[in-house]
Amino acid sequence: MMDGAETATSFEFATATRIVFGAGTLRDVAPAAAAMESRALVVTGGDAERAAPLLDGLRAAGVAHEVFAQAGEPTIESVDQAVRAARKAGCGIVIGMGGGSALDTAKAVAALLPGEVELMDHLEVIGRGRPLGARPAPCIAVPTTAGTGSEVTRNAVLASPEHGLKVSLRSPMMLPDLAVVDPELTLSLPAAITASTGLDALTQLIEPFLSRRANPMTDGFCREGIPRAARSLARACRSPEHLDARGDMAMASLLGGLALAGAGLGAVHGLASPLGGQLGMPHGAVCAALLPVVLEVNLAALRARAPGHPSLGRFDELAVLLTGDPEARAADGVDWIRGLCAELAVPGLSEFGLTRNSFATVARQAQGASSMKANPIPLDDAELLRILEESSAPAAP
Ligand code: NAD
Repeated sequence: MMDGAETATSFEFATATRIVFGAGTLRDVAPAAAAMESRALVVTGGDAERAAPLLDGLRAAGVAHEVFAQAGEPTIESVDQAVRAARKAGCGIVIGMGGGSALDTAKAVAALLPGEVELMDHLEVIGRGRPLGARPAPCIAVPTTAGTGSEVTRNAVLASPEHGLKVSLRSPMMLPDLAVVDPELTLSLPAAITASTGLDALTQLIEPFLSRRANPMTDGFCREGIPRAARSLARACRSPEHLDARGDMAMASLLGGLALAGAGLGAVHGLASPLGGQLGMPHGAVCAALLPVVLEVNLAALRARAPGHPSLGRFDELAVLLTGDPEARAADGVDWIRGLCAELAVPGLSEFGLTRNSFATVARQAQGASSMKANPIPLDDAELLRILEESSAPAAP
C-alpha cells in the first residue's frame, strides 16, 4: 500500500529465470531448449507458419517437437486439448511463440503437464484455486506481439465461455524458465494489432504506476517504459518496419509485464475480464477502449473522495512521462491518451457488440475481478457504468 508520496518499501518481486532481449535473439531459443529437454510442445498462434524459423532451429538442435496452433484467445477447453496433445507426444518442455494467447496456453500446459493435474482444481474465481502441487514442466516464452508481457508474468488468462469470464491460472512456479524477446518478430504485425496490443502494453505500465501496490522496483519499470511506448506506439503503427519503434514497444511490453507482476493492475483490467469473457472481444482492443475513460473517472473519484491521495501526484507525473512536458498536469495526460486513441482509430466497445443490456452484469463481475483490487481508489457501480457508457463510442480527442 502506498504511504505518503512514496510507494511501498516492503514488497516481493520474482520474474522469469532468464530474460534475453534483442533483435535476432530467436536464434537462442533452440539451443536453450535442447539443453533442457529433447521433446517439445511448440504452441503458436493461429498461423503456425510464423514459427517456421523456430521449428527449423529445433530440428537442427535435435529437439523433436509437436505443434499446437492456438487460434484465438485460450479457453479452458483449448488448454485441455493442448495438454492432451503434449501428453500423447511425450513432451517434456513447452515453448510458446506468438502473442499472449500462445504464451498463456504454453504456460498453462507446462503447469498442467506433470502428473494428472486438473485445471479446475487450480483455476481462480471459477475453480477451486488450489496451489499447484508439482513443479511445472520447463517453459520458454517467445512473444511476437508487443503487448501482454506474459513472458514474465506468473499467470495464464483463460476464457470460460460457460461462465462468461476470463480468469487466471496463477502460480509463482508459472514464471517461464526463459523469456526471449526479439523485436524483429513483431515487424509483421499489422497496424491494427500493433495499436491494440501496444495500448495493452501502455495500460500495463500505467495501471501498475497508479496501483495501490506500486513499489520502487515496479516504479522504475514504469518510468522507463511509459516514455518508450509514448514515443513509439504511433510510429510503429505508421511505419511497421521501423525496428527502433518495434524495439521500444517490445521493451515497453516486457517492462509492463514486470511491473504488473509486481504491482497488479486496476479498473481497465478489472473490466476487461468480464468483457473479454462474455463478448469475445480481443484483449488489447478492450484495454484500448477503456483506458482514457478509466483514467478520467479515477482522477475525478480521487479528487472528489480523497483530495490528499498520493495517486494524484502520480497522475501529474504520468502526464509528464507521456507528454515529455515537465509542466504537464494530470488532465494533460488524460487528454494525451485520448488523442493517441483517436489517432490510432481505437474502436468503441459497442463495435464489438457491447450493449447497455449487459452493463450491469459486466460492472458486477468486474467488482469481483482480481485486478480491481489494485485500482488506486475503489470505484462504485455508478462509476463503472459511466466507464462502460463512455467507452462504448470511439475515443474523440
Ligand atoms: P493474441 O495472442 O491473441 O494475438 C492477436 C493476433 O495477432 C492473433 O491473430 C495472432 O495470430 C496475431 N499475431 C501475433 N503475432 C503476430 C505477428 N508477429 N505478425 C502478425 N500477426 C501476429 O493477442 P495478444 O494481445 O498478444 O494476447 C492476448 C491474450 O493475452 C489474451 O488472452 C489476454 O487476456 C492475455 N494476456 C495475458 C497476460 C498475462 O500476464 N498472462 C497479460 C495480458 C494479456
